[in-house]
Amino acid sequence: MLNLVLFGPPGAGKGTQSEKLIQHYQLVHLSTGDILRSEIAAKTTLGLEAKKLMDQGILVPDEVVIGMINSKLNANPDAKGFIFDGFPRTKAQAEALDELLKNKGTSITLMLALEVSETELTKRLLLRGKDSGRPDDQNEEIIRKRIEEYNRKTAPVAEYYKAQNKFKGVNGVGSIEEIFENLCRSIEGK
Ligand code: ADP
Repeated sequence: MLNLVLFGPPGAGKGTQSEKLIQHYQLVHLSTGDILRSEIAAKTTLGLEAKKLMDQGILVPDEVVIGMINSKLNANPDAKGFIFDGFPRTKAQAEALDELLKNKGTSITLMLALEVSETELTKRLLLRGKDSGRPDDQNEEIIRKRIEEYNRKTAPVAEYYKAQNKFKGVNGVGSIEEIFENLCRSIEGK
């Protein structure tokens, strides 16, 4: 199986590149942000609780997202591989993911980290906020909070994969096609 973690700060382009990677490598896309937004749209209890945190740029509790990932893994027993987008975002989530995959006789192949400067990120997110309808993209203060959460809780997750020799940094600035080619090169070890 090819199991990829696509990593990077908010606005790094994980969603865009995930779409291309899943097509190219025929993977199942698991985005915790998308799953949470569909729970919000369906007005489930989980969604309504998560929305309060998401609108403030704060991470939702580990147990909630780990539970969501677990059920999506179980729902796709025949997958050729998965791309994890926006997950794991804390060390506890990374440990839980290893355990879930181990129980299925598989593991993470590689973490690909999209590298983009903070000024570029803020610019991209505000631009996206104009037509995405995402409340967390429309306010500079909330964007700052998300980047702060990323730096404090999520960035250390890279160390977890570095320690397992599974980390690869990729330049996240350039055209969508150029970045995609960089990612493919990293996956194929060129
Ligand atoms: P972005 O990467 O652009 O911030 P996402 O769509 O991945 O956007 O996430 C939006 C929000 O959803 C986050 O700010 C957070 O509140 C919540 N969220 C998504 N994934 C996770 C996760 N793995 N753990 C905790 N909270 C999450």
